[in-house]
Amino acid sequence: MSAKVIAVVTAAATAVTAAATATTLKVLLSRRPAMPTDEGLYANPVPANDDVDHPGELRATFMGVSTIALTDGETTLLTDGFFSRPSAQHVLAGRVSPNHAAIDEALSRADIDEVAAIFVAHSHYDHALDAPAVAWRTGATLVGSESTLNIGRGYGLGEEQMKLADLAEPMTFGRFKVQLILSEHSPHPKFQGFIESPLQAPARAKEYRMGECYSMLITHTNATGRTRSLLIHASAGFKPGCLKDHRADVAFLGVGPLGKQSTEFRHDYWRETVETVRARRVFPIHWDDFTLPLSEPLKAMPYIADNFDVTLKFLKRRRSLDGIEFAIPEPFVTIDPFAELRAPVTVPS
Ligand SMILES: [Zn+2]
Repeated sequence: MSAKVIAVVTAAATAVTAAATATTLKVLLSRRPAMPTDEGLYANPVPANDDVDHPGELRATFMGVSTIALTDGETTLLTDGFFSRPSAQHVLAGRVSPNHAAIDEALSRADIDEVAAIFVAHSHYDHALDAPAVAWRTGATLVGSESTLNIGRGYGLGEEQMKLADLAEPMTFGRFKVQLILSEHSPHPKFQGFIESPLQAPARAKEYRMGECYSMLITHTNATGRTRSLLIHASAGFKPGCLKDHRADVAFLGVGPLGKQSTEFRHDYWRETVETVRARRVFPIHWDDFTLPLSEPLKAMPYIADNFDVTLKFLKRRRSLDGIEFAIPEPFVTIDPFAELRAPVTVPS
């Protein structure tokens, strides 16, 4: 064959291989467990007029991955603030950057205007990508690791709008107190290490290095002096004993990719988080495929990454073993995390 023919055949073979790989990947990314149809497994929305009937009470709104808004009508806190959710193709082939239209749409849908602070669990893009843009829009203080603050610097946030995670003291915002606790990522994390200089988007997903991982213990005291507490533990890993001095009524518990771990790991994780803080209700988070947009109903992660069915079976088993309830939060549905919770463990101080 002439050199020209060889070149054409090689190019054609490469194109066929690329197409086959793309097709295989597309299939792998589309196979996933269906979300359960049993409505009883989902968290109940607050009733209409809840803000009038129960002013000043803590309410929570989940918005995918580990993005949760907490508000008492006076002060609003946010975790992560990740709304852009770039597609898998985008993440694998290109660079990621905040999608400002998606951020605006999500904030408006959740009726979020002013935010006191955004706490970023760690610096992977599925947590930290949009946090500076959301802080910019809402006036929030961006709180996180040095890696997260470098994402803020790359975005152009001023130092006065950022605060390095304080592991020694809780931070106070209105009636909220937030204690960050050094924790661990789920096993075998990608993109480990730190972001050591300002990171400007667009950047490759791998440039959003993990940095430190935090668990968040949030307490809220209402006008009558009643204190309630919740744990937001974004990533399904644990640092043994790191939560032993803390108590929480409920836990927002990261479960991705818990379905792929061993049974032993799942029970250890449960013991080190939910059991240790004595939570009586669990809201699984980080179960959704974050390469799909928030404008569509959330789907579970594909089998290639996780198996939410296994996690659900585990949650049901734990419920039957120790009576700890669970309820799957749905995006943009405001809930009372403590609704009809049996006797509180948190004693007002
Ligand atoms: Zn991560």
